[in-house]
Amino acid sequence: MATALKAWKLFIGGTWVDPAEGETEHDIDPATTDPVAEVAVASEEDVDRAVKAAKKAYEDVWFDTPPKERSAMMLKLADAMEGDADNLARLESEDVGKPIAVSGADIPFIVDNLRYFAGAARNMEGKNTGEYERGFTSWIRREPLGVTAGICPWNYPLMMAIWKVAPALAAGNVSILKPAELTPQTTLRLAELSADIFPPGVISVVTGRGSVVGAALCRHPDVSLVSITGDTATGKLVAKEAADTVKRVHLELGGKAPVVVFDDADVSKLVEMLKFAGYTNSGQDCTAATRIVAGPKVYDSVLSELVPAVESLVVGDTQKEETEMGPLVSDSQRQSVAGFVDRAREKGANVHTGGEAMAGAGYFYKPTIVADVDQKDEIIQREVFGPVVTIQRFKDDDQAIAWANDVVYGLASSVWTRDIGRALNAARKLQFGAVWINTHFGLTSEMPHGGYKQSGYGKDMSMYSLEDYSQIKHVMAAID
Ligand code: NAD
Repeated sequence: MATALKAWKLFIGGTWVDPAEGETEHDIDPATTDPVAEVAVASEEDVDRAVKAAKKAYEDVWFDTPPKERSAMMLKLADAMEGDADNLARLESEDVGKPIAVSGADIPFIVDNLRYFAGAARNMEGKNTGEYERGFTSWIRREPLGVTAGICPWNYPLMMAIWKVAPALAAGNVSILKPAELTPQTTLRLAELSADIFPPGVISVVTGRGSVVGAALCRHPDVSLVSITGDTATGKLVAKEAADTVKRVHLELGGKAPVVVFDDADVSKLVEMLKFAGYTNSGQDCTAATRIVAGPKVYDSVLSELVPAVESLVVGDTQKEETEMGPLVSDSQRQSVAGFVDRAREKGANVHTGGEAMAGAGYFYKPTIVADVDQKDEIIQREVFGPVVTIQRFKDDDQAIAWANDVVYGLASSVWTRDIGRALNAARKLQFGAVWINTHFGLTSEMPHGGYKQSGYGKDMSMYSLEDYSQIKHVMAAID
């Protein structure tokens, strides 16, 4: 007899409630296309209920909860997540199609993010205090915003949820999370783990469509900040929706990370990193190493070493420990990725490996390398968000930097060279929120992550994130 699917409700005001309109939908494992859970689909009315409960929690309880108590609760949640790591990794694997080893490897970092913010909650500062006018004293208070909304994408559902809820709580806000339609389970599990730790309404989770739940959160007058990680097009919609209530907006959007390889680079080190940074999470990563821009002399050896390295990736059963790459998140994502590669091929690009879907169940697409493309081609200019890496040959350093910068995105980049001056000059000229030198993908809780240009504004992680999730007040008192 088939076991009943787990049925997830909405987490509002500290309790599990049915959606007002009673709608639910299946959550699918993209590796098998089997349903793995039943999930509530919220309406605008549910969003309003969640905001009312969150506002009440903020005003009645959380506003007067001192940092050390907020911090202690966050540390307790981090411990609970650590204890539940295998389960969280399984749920994330089921929803996103990540190999179990990959989703498992993410959990310690996510727990560390939460612990970092638990510590940061006790270290908020207002910069100046003093007598700037005769007879008056002034000081800065750094204060919470109130009800914050965190709208998350499907590629790193739990990590993005923590990157939103943790700075929100640390800065003294309450948080409503809206996971992506395709990947709600780890955020809902987070709510379950938080239920006995936080006062009701401090953390809420409302599942459902972006155009309904997300948009309602952006419009709601009692939501003070909306933070979204998602596509650049969605970020623009969110900023427009939020404008009517002059809400603060925090945007972590798309990326198209260049990998600038100068002729003196260590090619084996580079290829080892690219095998991971171009293809982990099936390339569905806003900082993925998607476009190699290689020097005239090093180009051939990068390509000839990269092809066998990529062909050696273990792709397939997400529940096997040795699997390195799983499927794409959905059939439509796979079709979108295939479309980019097919159109590039029609235009004369050479596909050196991959370039096609894999047979069988699940939305698998072969790890792919595409060469002989022009800087203006859509495969260079637009986010493919799949296991597809392009390679271009530049003629000199100036062209390398110009090509690297010549996209609307500005999230992350890397530069590979043994020449320190060349590396530092590139780090200065690259228009990206992160520049990695002889590495790619370095993230740490203490350092900010966020974009330049159309990759958005606002920073995740670090004390800069706390600044985004708080506001400052000038208090002035007459002293004579
Ligand atoms: P998406 O833009 O389709 O969806 C993101 C979230 O926005 C979802 O929860 C969705 O329901 C919601 N949404 C959709 N329409 C909305 C609307 N009108 N109003 C409010 N909310 C709405 O993105 P995705 O496909 O889930 O995620 C992939 C994208 O996320 C990629 O572009 C990727 O680069 C980006 N991303 C960026 C970062 C970063 O740090 N900059 C990190 C991870 C992912």
